[in-house]
Amino acid sequence: MIRIKGVKKSFGDLKVLNNINLEIPQSNVSAIIGPSGAGKSTLIRAVNALEDIDSGEIIVDGVSVHDKKTNINKIRTEIGFVFQSFNLYPFLTALENVTIASINVKKTDKAEAIERGRELLSSLGLEDKFHSYPSKLSGGQQQRVAIARALAMDPKVMLFDEPTSALDPEMIKEVLDAIRKLAKSGMTMMVVTHEMGFAKEMCDQIVFMADGSIIEVAPPKTFFTNPVSPRAQDFLSKVL
Ligand code: ADP
Ligand code: MG
Repeated sequence: MIRIKGVKKSFGDLKVLNNINLEIPQSNVSAIIGPSGAGKSTLIRAVNALEDIDSGEIIVDGVSVHDKKTNINKIRTEIGFVFQSFNLYPFLTALENVTIASINVKKTDKAEAIERGRELLSSLGLEDKFHSYPSKLSGGQQQRVAIARALAMDPKVMLFDEPTSALDPEMIKEVLDAIRKLAKSGMTMMVVTHEMGFAKEMCDQIVFMADGSIIEVAPPKTFFTNPVSPRAQDFLSKVL
């Protein structure tokens, strides 16, 4: 579903992605982990064309994301992205946040979009928050609205960049549970996370990055019990 081939990217003199190659099959959930500054955010932002690349290619469901002929807006509706900071529209209710893009961008029939928005919010435990404004919601609730908003576009792929990093500890679980549910539904996902328990238990593969390179790709069991590279061993000794 996602093919990343020989991707390189620099910011000025700084090499941030150094020949990245990665394949993510349909329904696979990959955790992207590694130290701060490794290039994790740059990589997943590139998958969504939020970030340009200098060379290489990223193909999502057969479409070359950075090809000049590719319609970037279409790509972005097909790839859901959930950030650390929820970025909800403050002047719209939860339900309006979830439906606005499908109504305005996807031109979904309004009643249909609202029906689907209610379903999504309900499935994420927000059935009593349809008409709440973001300022009246907890961080965990706002992040679940952000997930519902991404899902409202019926994406083929979901990308998460540290979705729980801005949350108080007691809210992390509700957001991870939402992501877990999504994984069980067969969604293809790349999740940048510092939640090692989640990565271990939920993900099909661990992608360990450091210094702009992928150092190791392994099933969680293998990675967490028997990391091969010294970088990964060092990282795990600090976070576990
Ligand atoms: P991670 O998400 O793994 O912490 P990032 O992808 O955010 O890493 O960043 C990788 C490197 O690229 C870091 O050294 C960061 O400072 C640098 N970087 C990220 N975005 C920019 C930018 N827009 N301009 C310059 N440097 C950047
Ligand atoms: Mg980051």
